[in-house]
Amino acid sequence: MHPDDLEEALGVLYGSIVNKVESAHVRYRVRHKQGHWLWIYDRAKILFDSQGEPLIIAGFRTDITKQIELELHYEELAAIVQNTTVEVYILDSVTLRYLYANNGALKSLGYTLEELKNLTIIDINPDITPIEIEMFRQYLENINPELTNLSNHRRKDGSNYPVQASVHKLMYQGNPAVVIFDTDITELSSTQNKLRHLATHDPLTGLPNRILFYDRLQMAIKQNHRNDGKIAILFLDLDHFKQVNDSLGHSVGDELLIEVSKRLQSLLRRSDTIARMGGDEFNILLDGFNTTESIIDIVQKFNAAFKDPFTVHGRELHTTISIGIAVCPDDGITAEILLKNADVAMYKAKTEGRNTYSFYAHEMSEKAYERVIMENSLRIALKENQFRVFYQPQIDLISGQLAGMEALVRWQHPTLGIVSPDKFIPFCEETGFIQEIDFFVFESVIKQQIAWNLEGLAIPKIAVNFSAKTLNSRSISDEVRTIINFYRCPSNCIAIEVTESHIMQSPDEVIKILGEFQALGLEISIDDFGTGYSSLSYLKKLPINKLKIDQSFIRDIPYDEDDMAITKTIISLAQNLKLDVIAEGVETLEQQEFLLDSGCPLAQGYLYSKPIDTETITLLMKTKKRWI
Ligand code: C2E
Ligand code: CA
Ligand code: CA
Repeated sequence: MHPDDLEEALGVLYGSIVNKVESAHVRYRVRHKQGHWLWIYDRAKILFDSQGEPLIIAGFRTDITKQIELELHYEELAAIVQNTTVEVYILDSVTLRYLYANNGALKSLGYTLEELKNLTIIDINPDITPIEIEMFRQYLENINPELTNLSNHRRKDGSNYPVQASVHKLMYQGNPAVVIFDTDITELSSTQNKLRHLATHDPLTGLPNRILFYDRLQMAIKQNHRNDGKIAILFLDLDHFKQVNDSLGHSVGDELLIEVSKRLQSLLRRSDTIARMGGDEFNILLDGFNTTESIIDIVQKFNAAFKDPFTVHGRELHTTISIGIAVCPDDGITAEILLKNADVAMYKAKTEGRNTYSFYAHEMSEKAYERVIMENSLRIALKENQFRVFYQPQIDLISGQLAGMEALVRWQHPTLGIVSPDKFIPFCEETGFIQEIDFFVFESVIKQQIAWNLEGLAIPKIAVNFSAKTLNSRSISDEVRTIINFYRCPSNCIAIEVTESHIMQSPDEVIKILGEFQALGLEISIDDFGTGYSSLSYLKKLPINKLKIDQSFIRDIPYDEDDMAITKTIISLAQNLKLDVIAEGVETLEQQEFLLDSGCPLAQGYLYSKPIDTETITLLMKTKKRWI
C-alpha cells in the first residue's frame, strides 16, 4: 500500500471493526509487481463471532486507476477554468440566466456567484438589442458551432468595459447550455482607436485627412441623394505657400498651416467637414444649403478671413487662398468627380488672379456649348432640307377606315439618322426656330395633298402642329391665308393642333388667332387635352372643333381607374360642348374597346401605325381599306 494512503485506509478498516460494522469501503494505492502504483477500490466484509470479536476480513478489489486519473484530470481542468483571467460564463440556453461564472468573470464584474445567478445576459450586456437577442436565440437553435462578437459589459458598480465574446453550445448538468468566453479588450480597443485616429487625421493640424474626408463626402452624397438637396465641395489652396517654406523654413510653414486651419475651423458650422488633403491644400464639405448665393456668402467669408495677418513665431505673415467650388449633384455625383472638379475650379481661381473663388460650373459651360452646336446644325438643316414630314393615321373606330392623319416632323440628320422631335423641338421653341419648322410642315402637307389629289387619291384631313411661338408670330393668319390661297388648297383638309398648355399661356390672344383660322375654314383641335389646366369658362369661348385626349390618360387603360374616369369625362365634355374627340397613343385592343364603349369614335396610335414616311403612307392609302 502507498504509504500516503496507509493511515486513511487502516483508519476506515479499524473504524468498522471497532464499531462492529460489517463492511468497509476504501480507496488506496497498491504497488504493482512491476513497481508502478495502481488505484484500487476495496469493498471489505468483516465477519464477527457471537461475542462480537472480528474473525476474518474478506473483500473485492477493483482496479480504478483509469477512473481516478480522469477525475483528477477534470478537477485540474475545472481549477484552470475557475481561475483563468478570461471570463467564463455558463448560461441556461432557454432563460439566458447565468448558471456558472468563473473567478475571472466575478472579479471583472464585481458580483458574487450567488448574485450573478439571479441575472441574465441582458443585465450584463446593457447595449444588447432585442434583434441581437433574437439572433442569439436563432444561433442557439442552429448547428453553427461557434459565435464571436464584440459587446460591452456593465459591472456591478455601473461602469462599462468592452469585451470580445466567443460563444459555444454545450451540455451542462444534463441540460443544453451556453458557455461564453469573454476577453476584456479595453486596452486593445483604445489602441485601435488611437490607430484609427492616426490613420484618419493629419498629424500636423489634427484635422481629418484625405481618407476621412473621402468617407464623409461619400456619406453626404448618399444622404443628399435621398434628400434631393445640394452639397458643396470647396478646394482651398494657399497662395504662394512655397515661398513661405523656402524663405522662412519648414517649421514656420508648418506653424502657418496650423494657424490657417484654426482660422478656417472657426468659420465653419458643426455639420461642415474640413480636412487637410496634404501640403497646403484643404477641402471643406458644406452640407444642406439652398442657393448658390448662400455658398458665395460662405466662400467670401473665407477669402475675407485672410485679410488679417497670421502670427507665426512672433512674426506677422500675410497669406491668401484660392478656392474652387464643385456642387453636387450639378457638377458630379461621385466623390472622385466632385473632388477632381473642385480641384479644376481651384486652378481656375488661381489663373483668375488668386485670393478669389471659382465655380466649376460644368453644366453651364456644357449647355452653352451644346446650344451653339445645336443652333448651327439647325440652321444647316433648314438650308439643306434635312426636315421630313411623317404621317400617322387616325382611324374611325366605327367604320375601321382612315379618318385623317397627323403630320409629325422628323430631322433626317446626315450622320445621326432620323432625330425625333423631342430632341430638338423644345430647343426650337426656345430659340424661335419653331416658326420656320411649323411653316415648313404646313406647306409640305399642302403640297402633299395636292400630289395625292393628282394621283386620284381622296385628300385626307391632315393635322399640323402649331406651337405657341408660331401662333404668336405677328402676321400668322395672313401668312397662313397666303399659303392656302397660293396653293388653292381646300382649307377644310387641314387641321391645326395646338396644345392645351400653349393656349393657356396667353388665352385671349390665342382665342383671336384661332377664330381667324376657323374663319379660313381650318379645323382646330386642342392637343394633349387634360394636361393643361384649361378652365371651363375658356373652353366655352375657344373657337375649337376637337379635343385630343392626351396619351398619358390612354397609356394605363384598362389598369388605371383614375385615367379611365378622366378619359370618360373628357369624352362627355366633348359631347356636351358638341366637339369631336380623338384619343392618341392607343396601343392595345383593350384601349380601343374602352374608347368605343365610352363613345370616342376616333383613335390614333401604334395599334394602327407609327408615324411613317410619305411613300409608305401613300402605298397604304392605295391598298389598305380597313385599319382594324
Ligand atoms: P404630339 O403632337 O402629342 O404627337 C404625338 C406623339 O406621340 C408623336 O411623337 C407620336 O409618334 C407619338 N405616338 C403616336 N402614337 C403613339 C402610341 O401609340 N404610343 C406612344 N408611346 N407614342 C405614340 P413624336 O412624333 O415624337 O412627336 C413628339 C412631339 O413633338 C409631338 O407630340 C409634338 O408636340 C412635337 N412635334 C412633332 N412635330 C411637330 C411639328 O411639326 N410642329 C410642332 N410645333 N411640334 C411638333
Ligand atoms: Ca399633336
Ligand atoms: Ca398630343
